[in-house]
Amino acid sequence: MNSASPLQLDNHFVRHLPADPEQRNIRRQVSKACYSRVQPLQFPRATLLGWSQPLAAQLGLSPLQLGEARFAQIFSGSELLSGSEPFAQCYGGHQFGNWAGQLGDGRAINLGEMRDVNGQHQMLQLKGAGPTPYSRTADGLAVLRSSLREYLCSEAMHHLGIATTRALSLVATGETVVRDMFYDGNPKAEPGAVVCRVAPSFLRFGSYEIFSARNDIDSLRTLANYTIARDFPELPNATTPDADTYTAWFDTICQRTARLIVDWMRVGFVHGVMNTDNMSILGLTIDYGPYGWLEPHDPTWTPNTTDAQGRRYRFGQQPQIAMWNLVQLANALYPLINEVKPLEDALDSYRNTYEREWLAMMRRKLGLAQAEPDDKPLVEALLQSFSLTETDYTLYFRALARFDASTEVTGLPIALRSTWYDEQPGTKAEQAATEWLQRYRERLLAEHSDPSARANLMNATNPLYVLRNWLAQQAIDDAEQGKLDKLRELEQMIQQPYTAQAGKDHLAEKRPEWARQRAGCSMLSCSS
Ligand code: AMP
Ligand code: MG
Repeated sequence: MNSASPLQLDNHFVRHLPADPEQRNIRRQVSKACYSRVQPLQFPRATLLGWSQPLAAQLGLSPLQLGEARFAQIFSGSELLSGSEPFAQCYGGHQFGNWAGQLGDGRAINLGEMRDVNGQHQMLQLKGAGPTPYSRTADGLAVLRSSLREYLCSEAMHHLGIATTRALSLVATGETVVRDMFYDGNPKAEPGAVVCRVAPSFLRFGSYEIFSARNDIDSLRTLANYTIARDFPELPNATTPDADTYTAWFDTICQRTARLIVDWMRVGFVHGVMNTDNMSILGLTIDYGPYGWLEPHDPTWTPNTTDAQGRRYRFGQQPQIAMWNLVQLANALYPLINEVKPLEDALDSYRNTYEREWLAMMRRKLGLAQAEPDDKPLVEALLQSFSLTETDYTLYFRALARFDASTEVTGLPIALRSTWYDEQPGTKAEQAATEWLQRYRERLLAEHSDPSARANLMNATNPLYVLRNWLAQQAIDDAEQGKLDKLRELEQMIQQPYTAQAGKDHLAEKRPEWARQRAGCSMLSCSS
């Protein structure tokens, strides 16, 4: 079971779950199987653009030991590690509210599993290493711009303390990929890349939905039992699950999903494509596509151009969409439980956990040590005041941590004003912001708030550095020209998001005006 050497992969998933008998790599519907075997493409000119030192250390797999050239060969899929039986997973999903049928790993190829230094199993998965039976009409490849974004953001989320799939490496394939970035009939050749993603499991809500949709309850049960034994061993009867085990499992998924979304709302992360195939069964952030970070706080904002009309996946709707997705999962798992009530109870517990944890999180964002009945209105009034003038969601809370509550509020301190995009927004916005600050000050005085304890709590909750879209885009523009300095700088920045780093003020700034409408900086297309 345990890999004897870090270069020996284990094929636990392959050994324990039903395989697609078809060996040819042709696009097709795959029934009664969890995966299809597939070989990655060969990229002889692959080069290493970036790698995560913390994750490499955790896996004991680093280019320092393997040599950069070999590392690039392995993590582009060109050289297979010993024992690896690569495969693509079969799953389905609801996309933008509609059942989409079979989707599957169209451009992800799983290499196998290994144990990290903590003994935790981890699956290594390449994204962009070639087509699979699930590629439908697409090519199985990925471009550098979206790969760099996934690579950086996965690690950024990890260092923010948010559950996520990880990214070990970013490798340039040395080949081009054709994409019509704006869907306007102007396709262009772009540099290709492969990201090595790492997670204990890449199973998604859609992995279960596909079997239920096909009324293949045997496969559904097989996969559910596998998942529980493998990744939820703490559940009652995890190795011989019954209806109570499945119920407890679904409840755990609901709890984890609630906590995940609270974390997204804390840091202003907008996933952008919360389809059920992009919802991890482990409650991880998964599938970084046209995601974005709030700069001005705007609950209606979505980074995804494909979603610009309906804004289904806007920032403020993420909690409701997660719930909608959990309902789809509940429907899919129903045949294992055959009772509606326990599933409804778990969904209720999602709502309750989300509400409770969201308020607790917002209290920490404000540095409040105690819970008071009026906290929710206090938080809502702040968010309301953000709607009167564009306020940088990240910088505002860092500035608020420096607010001195010992003297009366007569106007808005410069530090807070400077988090506005328009620093002279007019009296209504000024008044609302000032009145809110007075209210906040009274609240702090009432709980005898200790200034340094408050600042510490706030600065551990509110990041200073987030992966602003225009920062990532600048690193992409340079990387496409072969210049990696900005990528290196961001690799460093994301590792300590809560701590001010010397000489890095330019990474903690409001979005510059030039970035407001630029592609990649404000809105992103799904074409990646
Ligand atoms: P997404 O919503 O981007 O996570 O992708 C939805 C589905 O499309 C998944 O099944 C992906 O594997 C598939 N897909 C996206 N891009 C490609 C591509 N370039 N080649 C093959 N399949 C893709
Ligand atoms: Mg996906």
